[in-house]
Amino acid sequence: MQSKSETSDASRIIILDEHTANRIAAGEVVERPVSVVKELVENSLDAGATQITVSIEQGGKELIKVTDNGCGMTREDAILSLQRHATSKIRSASDLKAIRTLGFRGEALPSIASISILEMITKHESQPAGTRLEVEAGSITNLESVGAPQGTTIIVRKLFFNTPARLKFLKSAQTEFSHIAEYVGWFALAWPTVSFRLLHGGREVLSSPATGQRLNSIVEVLGKDIAKQLVEVHYELPGVRVEGFVSCPSLTRINRRDQIFFVNGRPIRNKIIAHALDYAYRGLLPSGRYPVAVLFLEVPPELVDVNVHPAKSEVKFSNEQEVHSAVYRSVNMALTTGAAIPTISEHAEPLGKPAPISSEQADITSKLFVPWPDAATQQHIQPMNLSAFQEALRRRREQALSEISDVGEDSWQKGSGVPVEESPVPEADFIAPRTVALTGVRVIGQARNMYVLAECDDGLLVIDQHVAHERILYDQLLRFDAESRSAIQRLLTPITISLSASESTVVRQRLDMLNQAGFDLEEFGRDTFILRGAPPQLKPSQAEAILRDIIAELVELSVERHLIVRSDQVLITTACKMAIKAGEKLDDREMKQLVEDLLKCENPFVCPHGRPIIVSLSNWELDRKFKRT
Ligand code: ADP
Ligand code: MG
Repeated sequence: MQSKSETSDASRIIILDEHTANRIAAGEVVERPVSVVKELVENSLDAGATQITVSIEQGGKELIKVTDNGCGMTREDAILSLQRHATSKIRSASDLKAIRTLGFRGEALPSIASISILEMITKHESQPAGTRLEVEAGSITNLESVGAPQGTTIIVRKLFFNTPARLKFLKSAQTEFSHIAEYVGWFALAWPTVSFRLLHGGREVLSSPATGQRLNSIVEVLGKDIAKQLVEVHYELPGVRVEGFVSCPSLTRINRRDQIFFVNGRPIRNKIIAHALDYAYRGLLPSGRYPVAVLFLEVPPELVDVNVHPAKSEVKFSNEQEVHSAVYRSVNMALTTGAAIPTISEHAEPLGKPAPISSEQADITSKLFVPWPDAATQQHIQPMNLSAFQEALRRRREQALSEISDVGEDSWQKGSGVPVEESPVPEADFIAPRTVALTGVRVIGQARNMYVLAECDDGLLVIDQHVAHERILYDQLLRFDAESRSAIQRLLTPITISLSASESTVVRQRLDMLNQAGFDLEEFGRDTFILRGAPPQLKPSQAEAILRDIIAELVELSVERHLIVRSDQVLITTACKMAIKAGEKLDDREMKQLVEDLLKCENPFVCPHGRPIIVSLSNWELDRKFKRT
């Protein structure tokens, strides 16, 4: 260490000049071209724009131009806006407690200007003429009056031209552009009343319809095939409102890329929301698969801290518990209502007219029913643009896959390296003309020793007996408590079970879950276990065979994926192995019991593997098919 007297100039504290400070801030705020797009578009939105056009050349490396029809700036403000911590959005530190705008740091424009050649043309309504400003590496080089429409255009050329280290890290123009396309897509989702256009090399890649309907933006951004398999989410608790769409369990992904969360209009990542979502899908998806979700949360600004990340891509809630339960409940409700039951209808027309709805149903049905854009709004959707945009997104996803570095429970699947793909979608069309409520259910009979046929007030139901029973058992296993523990049947003679090395490894790892599943199993020497009790649902004579089946499947799962079997997988496998098989003849009493138990399940529509349990044919569809309507 140097003594005080030897302190050289280099170690004395000085206040950095404005230019240096801006370039340091730029390092945090501007990582790549998409960061510039994000900051400029946020400014346009804060300025109240309803039309925003983003033009990109060379993935943003050559040029980024954002034009808006917002409030614009006076000449004075235009000059001020380029100074560090110049903002019109907050006045003092106390305003930080409740941020209502997307920007507030007053850092973006000066940061961007310090590492590019920037041109601004802006006109405020109070002024007769517009202002044109040119800035190079942070210094204003030209200032003049020009004719211009109200609003602001900002052109950023040669980004990072004076920071070669950053420049070196940029990826290909296509890759940089795909990041931009993804982000502009998010904006279009979050702001359905604003019209966004995105161009790359003069070619229009996205044009959002600004119909005010979220689903239309989703069709534009995620594509029609995905939009078709989404159910609407809508829920409110004091302090949180959740809206948006989540996928039916038939549509899953191998990672979280298609989970997009917005808080007060801002796309963010957040563990609380992600966890609540997982929780709502517990037992509905095969392990290692994730739902698609586009969720919009509105939280009073004083309850979210957006000032925890320089790029504002993370937030902190002070009402975490409420946020968690609002997300969980909203998604859970959407999944457990009829909206997720597939219907038998061949998907001819995208949308039949909804059936007449009784007034007491109208309220709830309007929430369950997923509206489909009508012909008029569909005209806004240009297939050519859609495909270019989807192409950009596909590239972004591919890249994201190679970048995945999530740690924790999910990380084990990254090795699988499978490209994002959809799980097979059942033939049936998920968008029912109306939902079928499960009231007044009555068993009619059994078909092919596989399906239980039933009727309900709204139509006919076909229930898959195996998956229905699987769901019932799974729910019982999940609820495991003292009562279920005492229900375990003692075997008169304990059974000794010798296993292979890999089998006993899996059993040892998951002994707790097997116990929870009702198998009273105890280790007894090397690779040998003693079975003293079995689940009450099993005949004692079946216990050993079924336990061996379960173990075999768990070993297979663990070998396939080289990992520890997830604990819920043990319950799912147990439920599957214990359930009535397809092909078993059921008598009336058994069928009645099955349906009765099924209706008590929290989610009678989808089995723990994600397969549908009930397929319905509504009275309305039936009458229509017979030309009675
Ligand atoms: P912040 O958004 O955090 O306030 P910025 O550096 O992004 O900081 O912008 C500085 C200021 O410039 C804003 O507060 C706003 O007053 C003004 N401004 C920037 N872009 C626009 C725009 N597109 N339209 C109108 N005003 C703008
Ligand atoms: Mg800003």
